[in-house]
Amino acid sequence: MSQKKKIASISLDFDNKWAYLRAAGRDDWAEQSSYLPLAADRIVETLGELNLPLTVFIVGRDLADDQNIAAARSFDRLPNWEPANHSLNHLPWMHTMEPSEITAEIETTDQRIRDHLGRRPLGFRGPGFSCPDQVLRVLAKNDYVYDASIFPTSMAPIARAVFLMRTKLQGEQREKAKQLYGGFKSMRHPNRPFQRSVAGNDDRQATNLWEVPVTVLPFARTPIHFSYFTYLASFSTLAAKAYFSTALRLCRMTGTPPSLLLHPPDFMGREDDSDMAYFPAMNMARADKIAIVRWALKKYAESFDVRCMIDQVAALDPNIDRDSSLDTDHPAADAAIAAR
Ligand SMILES: [Zn+2]
Repeated sequence: MSQKKKIASISLDFDNKWAYLRAAGRDDWAEQSSYLPLAADRIVETLGELNLPLTVFIVGRDLADDQNIAAARSFDRLPNWEPANHSLNHLPWMHTMEPSEITAEIETTDQRIRDHLGRRPLGFRGPGFSCPDQVLRVLAKNDYVYDASIFPTSMAPIARAVFLMRTKLQGEQREKAKQLYGGFKSMRHPNRPFQRSVAGNDDRQATNLWEVPVTVLPFARTPIHFSYFTYLASFSTLAAKAYFSTALRLCRMTGTPPSLLLHPPDFMGREDDSDMAYFPAMNMARADKIAIVRWALKKYAESFDVRCMIDQVAALDPNIDRDSSLDTDHPAADAAIAAR
């Protein structure tokens, strides 16, 4: 490619099986085994081969368990990665929570990431793409650099309807879930990183926070994240590849710097977990799914200069100190610095 590649980013929502099964209304969700170690291994292997970095949105609840902490630490094997905050309990209705609950969801996970990974998270993504103002205020107060909770898709109403049709959630939780995926207004947001001003409270001034939406197809605004791609591939590999290639081309043509999103099930097949059969594209064989995800990741890396999200934002904003994630107040930070 003669032209210089444009900067893009890639992230992973490191959601565990319990979060999917709870969303599906399974009563036994809390007793489920973790698939994070298995998923992390395959993700590190696949991305490592392609020399790709990764931003990992981690759910604080999982950092109470040693094998999940080890799984999160295994991303150290990548050339570059960044831990980010994905709330404490992965409840996709933060917009219905009290301010104190929102603070606890964000700050507890922040502390657990510092304690166990020796790094300070600079980015946050709300579960279910929920992004109320109170979340932004807590992020600003804790000196976060970016939020990534917007999914500006035209398909939000359809995705929500499918979710409500499939889930066994009842009563209050079902009512709360009706605002999943950010509601209709999510589509009014830009399909590219932008800065937003967060009003200050008490003696705090207004702060700027970057918003990095999960990129959707320019114009049509249909999803282009990897779980949608593998879902398409479960019907037709050819169609999925054509769709993904078109998406990358449209992003280049329209000057849209993409930020694409992975989930652990993108690296798992039907042999891996029968509990996950309900999830889209979990009917694919593992080898077929990993092969098509690898194809897409390689194509992404060939088309763009793919970085962690904090590095994508830092390239847009010279005021950002990317190394502020190295929490020097913590002993584990020395090891993190030494490893760089
Ligand atoms: Zn999630």
